Amino acid sequence: MSSATERRELLKAVYTEARGCIACQLSETRTNVVFGSGNADAELMFVGEAPGANEDLQGLPFVGQAGKLLEKLLGEIGMERGDVFIANTLKCRPPDNRNPYPHELESCQHYLFSQLELIEPTMVCTLGNFATKLLRGDPAGISKIHGQEEVRTIGPRAVCLYPLYHPAAALYTPSTLEMLRADFLRIPELLKLGPPPQPDPLANTRGELFVPGTKNSPRVEPDVPAQSAPGAAADVLGEPAPAGSDQQLWLF
Ligand code: URA
Repeated sequence: MSSATERRELLKAVYTEARGCIACQLSETRTNVVFGSGNADAELMFVGEAPGANEDLQGLPFVGQAGKLLEKLLGEIGMERGDVFIANTLKCRPPDNRNPYPHELESCQHYLFSQLELIEPTMVCTLGNFATKLLRGDPAGISKIHGQEEVRTIGPRAVCLYPLYHPAAALYTPSTLEMLRADFLRIPELLKLGPPPQPDPLANTRGELFVPGTKNSPRVEPDVPAQSAPGAAADVLGEPAPAGSDQQLWLF
């Protein structure tokens, strides 16, 4: 893959595409597309379910109570939001926070797969059932497989996939919080293992291991529109940096 700078520019291009997405009906009820935010070159990525009301209003993932818990747990392992990238399976809020529909997951998944391809994380923590089932391509539920790391090939890359309970599920259930915390505490040791061996690029077709029956993610075009850069994605990918700075994306 290209350099971190090139990947970051490509990520902004994917964001620009997502911002105008009308692939499903969620585009009619959303306030903002919640693309994801954080470190564009993160080793560790979290994938939640879908934006809620706060996220929809702010255009940022995990900014409500579940997000506060996520930040707290990150703090307990010596990390902060700026160290990781946080995204969701759906980029738009389902009305009334209902569960994502299969056709919504299908039409939105290529954004997530592009994010995974461009950020190149070593480890991906799926938060809850929807992200776990989508990225594992398997219906096993979170209560059965949380805390069980495994190497999974997602698109062109192998990652350590680590299913966790969704922080929202832990908010009011102390026993779930304890399990989530115990699983979280293993993240540093798993990160220390470094990236798993990568598949032979020639043998790997992008998207081939994704959910059966779904379309593969389209390739991200390598050229980034020349005018898209300064500040273009600052509103969703992070705090805007000073004008002219290279850090428009709060990409830490
Ligand atoms: N829950 C999620 O799954 N994602 C968010 O961004 C917020 C809450």
